[in-house]
Amino acid sequence: PLILAIESSCDETAAAVINGEEALLSDVVASQVDFHARFGGVVPEIASRKHIEAICGVCDEALDAAARVLLSSAPLHHPECSAQPGVEGLSDNAPRLRWRDLDAVAVTYAPGLVGALVVGVAFAKGAAWGADIPFIVVNHLEGHLYANKIGLEDFRPPAVVSLVSGGNTLLVYMADWGDYRVLGATIDDAVGEAFDKVAKALGLGYPGGPVVSKFAAEGDSSAISFPRAMLHSGDFSFSLSGLKTAVVTYINNERAAGRALNVPDICASFTQAVVDVQVAKARTALRETGAPTFCLGGGVAANPTLRQAYETMCAEEGVRLVMPPLASCGDNAGMIAEVALDRYRAGKFSSLSTDALAQGDLEMPY
Ligand code: ATP
Ligand code: MG
Ligand code: FE
Repeated sequence: PLILAIESSCDETAAAVINGEEALLSDVVASQVDFHARFGGVVPEIASRKHIEAICGVCDEALDAAARVLLSSAPLHHPECSAQPGVEGLSDNAPRLRWRDLDAVAVTYAPGLVGALVVGVAFAKGAAWGADIPFIVVNHLEGHLYANKIGLEDFRPPAVVSLVSGGNTLLVYMADWGDYRVLGATIDDAVGEAFDKVAKALGLGYPGGPVVSKFAAEGDSSAISFPRAMLHSGDFSFSLSGLKTAVVTYINNERAAGRALNVPDICASFTQAVVDVQVAKARTALRETGAPTFCLGGGVAANPTLRQAYETMCAEEGVRLVMPPLASCGDNAGMIAEVALDRYRAGKFSSLSTDALAQGDLEMPY
């Protein structure tokens, strides 16, 4: 099949086309981050409006890029594609993949900013309805989990999964595709949110993760002792707000004492405090479940200190480590397309009356 997937849960408008061989023919992301940066975070109404502006162009780009891939492998005619090779310079004859060439349209419906989600959901519904093709809704967090499949065919459950993003921090036992048990979650801030708040306190702008990573690479991770919250809580819960407060308090005290801030040391020490707790709980989850594989998902999965620490831990535990490609850690539609393909193969389609939801239950992803 050919499936187009759309993602608009936060501040990325994204579309991707996948085929039956699990090959992503296109994977387009338009980030709005520059429009939100001046406000220090995502402004929901701006996000909705930017999705409305971008969504047609992003989908066109995904369809066109997919058509080019299909036509390059079968230049005269491809059975899955009504697109025909174009005459150079005549845009009317340019290769196009049209909605009616698709076998399904998929979209993220939860969790996220409702006003942002509804843009993608309404658009995808209109396309599915107009082209008379099946409609598939996808949970964003299941998408982050499926990002581990991108470019990797032999990733198999069972696995323990850590989902660490801007809005969520979860440790999950994945018994099978679509069969998830949440072992624990954050009781307050998400890990990505903590990175964003620390960056804001240091005046480093938004989003915080990438810039904190950059400074952390030059800092001493043992320079400042920040708390490892819930390290010995005996469960799989996390708490990040105390750590953020400890960092802010440290910054304020240094400033009040007239000392210059060592930004690299602060970033490295903060990152290490986060990583120590994440890795310790993941290790316990692996031992308790006996899962042979550990994988990661969400924007924070791009963090180099975290990735390195998991490599060490998984080697020690004799567990296979699977991580999404760096470009597929943050929000993208390729990961949504991977979920949609499984749903399509199982014949699990969604009603055109399905609504967007701010909260989504990973244990019941659709
Ligand atoms: P959710 O997936 O929970 O709905 P979201 O979609 O907004 O939230 P993502 O786009 O998956 O979140 O991830 C964005 C978050 O990842 C931001 O908080 C950002 O700071 C963080 N992040 C990105 N790169 C890094 C990095 N290298 N290190 C740490 N955090 C990072
Ligand atoms: Mg984002
Ligand atoms: Fe996300």
